[in-house]
This record gives sequence, C-alpha cells and structure tokens, in this order.
Amino acid sequence: MTFKSGYVALIGQPNVGKSTLLNALLGERLAIVTNKPQTTRHRITGILNEDDCQIIFLDTPGYHESSKPLNQAMLEVVDAVMGDADVMCVMVEPGSPDPNLDRHLFERAGKDRTIVVINKADKVSKAEFQAMAESYRDKWGAKEVIVMSALKDLGVASLIDAIKERLPEGPAYYPQDDYTDHNMRFIASELIREEVFKQMQQEIPYSTAVTIDSYKEPREGQKITEIAATIVVERESQKGMVIGKKGARIKQIGKLARAKIEEMIGGQVFLELNVRVQKDWTKDDARLKELGYKIS
Ligand code: GDP
Ligand code: MG
Repeated sequence: MTFKSGYVALIGQPNVGKSTLLNALLGERLAIVTNKPQTTRHRITGILNEDDCQIIFLDTPGYHESSKPLNQAMLEVVDAVMGDADVMCVMVEPGSPDPNLDRHLFERAGKDRTIVVINKADKVSKAEFQAMAESYRDKWGAKEVIVMSALKDLGVASLIDAIKERLPEGPAYYPQDDYTDHNMRFIASELIREEVFKQMQQEIPYSTAVTIDSYKEPREGQKITEIAATIVVERESQKGMVIGKKGARIKQIGKLARAKIEEMIGGQVFLELNVRVQKDWTKDDARLKELGYKIS
C-alpha cells in the first residue's frame, strides 16, 4: 500500500462553511492542533489520519484582521499559503455573496491542484447544484468539483478521496498514534490562544503563542484537571496589554478559555495563566519542544 501525505489549504469567503467542514472532518477522528515542524509560515488547523494517508490542513489566517478590502486580502492569503499546500480547496456556496471573487480565488490557486468544493448543497435542488458543478467545469475549467454539505456530513468522504488522489506519496509527518495527552495539551493551548486573540483584537501579533507548562489529570478521587500555561509575547508593552488594568484582561481570558477547555474535556479545570516576554521568539520553537521534535 502506498502511503500519501501532504498539506491542504481550504480557501473560501467568510461563512461559506470552512470551519464546519473541518469540524466534520476532524470531529470524530484524531485531530491534533500543532505546528508543521518543517516550516514556520503557517499554522495547522488539524490533521486527518487514515490508514493510507495523512492530510494536514493549513490554517489560512490573515484576511479577518486585515484592513485591506476583503477580496484583495483573500487573494493574498491564497498566494501566501500556496507555497506550502499540495492541494488547494476553494469552497463556494449556492447564492455566493461574490461569485467573481470565487472565480478569482480559483484562478489564483491554479487549476491543476485545485478542487472546487460546492458546500451547502442541502440548500438547493439536485438540478441546481448539478448546474453549478457543470458551469465550474465548463466556464472555469475546473478539473474536480465536489458537491457536499458540511453541516449534514454529506459528500465529505468524496472530498477526502479527491484530496487523497492529489496528494503526493510521502510519510506521516506527524505521529499517528493517539497521543491523547498531547492532544489535550495542544487543544488547550489553542483554546487559550484563541481567547487571547478575541480579547486583544489587533493589539498583539498573530505570532503570539501559548505554551502549556503543566497538565495534570485529576488525581484519584478528585475531579479537577490542573493546567498551567504561559502566554509568550515579544515585548514588555504587549505583556502589559495582555495583563490589563489590575489584571482584568488576563482574568477574562482565563475565565473564557477555562470554560472552553472544560467543555472540551467534560470536567472541571483549574487554569493558571502566566505572561512572559521573550524576544525574537518564534512560536515554533516552543511548540516543537513540546512535541519532542526539537530539544534545546
Ligand atoms: P466559515 O466562515 O467559512 O468558517 O463558515 P462556518 O463554518 O462558520 O459556517 C457559516 C455558516 O454556514 C454557519 O451558520 C454554518 O452552520 C452554515 N453552514 C456550513 N455548512 C453548511 C452546509 O453544508 N449547509 C448549510 N445549510 N449550512 C451550512
Ligand atoms: Mg471559520
């Protein structure tokens, strides 16, 4: 059996259903949230492990925070992620808010390695989504069009097959075993990080990261998972902003992140948050150390 592996970027206008698809893909399967060891350029939203392949989904951040017009910012995201992606998926939906933008995204991504994914097919009749698919093939020159509904989990398997077909042969870049503890740690750090961004908006750079210093499962007869985490920033001024007046902001970040982690693990959590300044720090260093890929 040949094993395939590679990186996949999921591009599409806001609300087209990217997050819903990732949840459908990764929800029931092993999903680790981590960093690609080999590059520093993109984060990973999840990894799908199957018997004969490993699909690594790249995050395509940027255009939400950008002050540029949406279409221009999105095209730049495509350019940025293309260097690392083996397969591009451009997701569209019936009644697109901007059909021209869909087409530009597709053209920018390049015909040869791009799959057009029509999501929300449940919203229209079969004749309608078939007509859509046909027009992407005829007018855009799309080589592969997948019709699906991320919400209803329909057509997801066909998409995985289409991606698999386009992946190069290669090894699993990440451990395939069920590293539950690692997973929990990573997911916890991502949930905290997400909360930092929500609370901070544009005040801190995207490169800011969170490391988990300790993760203690409940002891015999107890219920609370104890987690200590550090938010690593690059400058003193950022540290002050994360902490906030009398610690108000970090308290809020901690409270909301804790609630999300509790929801994820289905139990009580005690979360201790610290902030540390580390100059010229890149998030990969810390993450890779955690993963065990890099020891220093
Ligand atoms: P994103 O901005 O691309 O990540 O989009 P989201 O995944 O957040 O989805 C935006 C909205 O579209 C949500 O309300 C989803 O429930 C809805 N949605 C996503 N996929 C489908 C689908 O297949 N069918 C329908 N009817 N709604 C969907
Ligand atoms: Mg989303």
